[in-house]
Amino acid sequence: MSDIHTADDALIARIQASPGSGRAIPDAATGAIVGYAPEHTVTDVDTAVARAATAQPAWEEAGHAARSALLLAAADAVEAHAEALARLLSREQGKPLDGPNARFEVGACATWLRAAAATVLEPQVIVDDGTDYAELTYRALGVVAAIGPWNWPLMIGIWQIAPALRMGNTVVVKPSEYTPLSVLALVDILNGVLPADVLVPVTSGDRAVGARLAAHPDIDKVMFTGSTATGRKIVEASGANLARLTLELGGNDAGIVLPDADPAAIAEGLFWGAFINTGQTCAALKRLYVHESIYDEVLDALAAVAERMPMGYGLDEGTVLGPLQNPAQFAIVQRLVEDAKARGGRVVVGGEPAPELGANFFRTTIIADLADGVPLVDEEQFGPALPVIRYTDIEEAVAAANRLDVGLGASVWSTDRAAARAVAARLRAGTVWINAHGTLHPKVPFGGVKSSGYGLEFGAEGLKAVAEPRVVNG
Ligand code: NAD
Repeated sequence: MSDIHTADDALIARIQASPGSGRAIPDAATGAIVGYAPEHTVTDVDTAVARAATAQPAWEEAGHAARSALLLAAADAVEAHAEALARLLSREQGKPLDGPNARFEVGACATWLRAAAATVLEPQVIVDDGTDYAELTYRALGVVAAIGPWNWPLMIGIWQIAPALRMGNTVVVKPSEYTPLSVLALVDILNGVLPADVLVPVTSGDRAVGARLAAHPDIDKVMFTGSTATGRKIVEASGANLARLTLELGGNDAGIVLPDADPAAIAEGLFWGAFINTGQTCAALKRLYVHESIYDEVLDALAAVAERMPMGYGLDEGTVLGPLQNPAQFAIVQRLVEDAKARGGRVVVGGEPAPELGANFFRTTIIADLADGVPLVDEEQFGPALPVIRYTDIEEAVAAANRLDVGLGASVWSTDRAAARAVAARLRAGTVWINAHGTLHPKVPFGGVKSSGYGLEFGAEGLKAVAEPRVVNG
């Protein structure tokens, strides 16, 4: 590594057993080796779970105030290493430092740690009528498995880790095989504050390691974010260990632009709703339905925003869009775009790879005049290619938005809030945004419906999801 003295390389040096041993992790944009991740085995998973199980009773015993204080200290530690973490994340994941990307993601980690520290589940008195008394309380479940994807590896990792620790669980965290280094660095920073074995990482390129973790008999809860296909395997595994599950799976979020929307006012919101993290976001706008009366104006306004957003190497300041994280995802996006063009889709911007930037770069792409049934509309593209569909009647748009077997997010765009809310009420999705898409708040519950998963994260609902309910009666 050439810039060995930079803070991100110092972080990498700390988390590697020894340079050159383990699995080489490439820079998503250049292919240069960023570092080497330990290659743990199924036996190592068993050891990790045993360590976490041994540490759990004392962690629970420490009490809410002590755990919250440590989560606040952990947030401070993340901020103290923010730039180094953001640089490592940018290299490994591909997302730029600037824009709603790597620095933003590291900042969100501190925000969500502090939010978990500040959230309290008070006992809920259910009956108190002079004759009967019953209250509902929550305690730790035990050991939580946190299994994450490669798109927002730090933020999603913290979404799983922070509430689990807050409630007195210990955690075994398994990052995606594509982005282990940034998560290992985050865990290393957190473990500078936390007691030993409260948070134990396992990393591997072998998917059997994740499978063992999900199926382990001493795992009490699996927090999983990833694909619907893997989610189904985790549901099957839970048939044996009865682990509680929170599943945040894939989506294909629809946006509906009503005829009274102001194209210029919504264009930037639509753009980031679709292209945040270069489209590699679970709750991103993945198909856009626009009323015919403003269809051309919306396309023009959206294209103008797309054309001024720079794509390039993440460490170059000013870049706001990066590459696809890995060649397999690049191939999916390329296939769907080529197919959409072959079926008569009109390329408004982009529509092809950007090889001059690097192997995994695909230009910001907007394809108009598509219809439901085209794979770019019906399948999750998870990349920088937005299909736009013209509609005439709102009934048609609502039916189209609801017709797929996924339901993570959806959005309605209008100058009339009441009209937008009336449409929102008819959409089957875990979250429906109005004049925005994908914005999250640590107190507002987030989760999917249908094949996008089940269970809620964030806020008080998120704490309940990593806790065991107990009724005290009498
Ligand atoms: P993936 O399902 O391929 O992998 C996710 C994680 O599961 C990885 O850590 C992987 O190693 C692990 N894994 C693989 N096989 C396993 C098994 N049998 N048992 C347990 N763990 C196993 O998903 P991905 O490609 O990393 O992520 C992309 C997908 O994630 C997209 O579909 C996207 O929509 C979805 N996603 C959803 C959300 C959300 O909040 N709903 C957020 C981000 C990503």
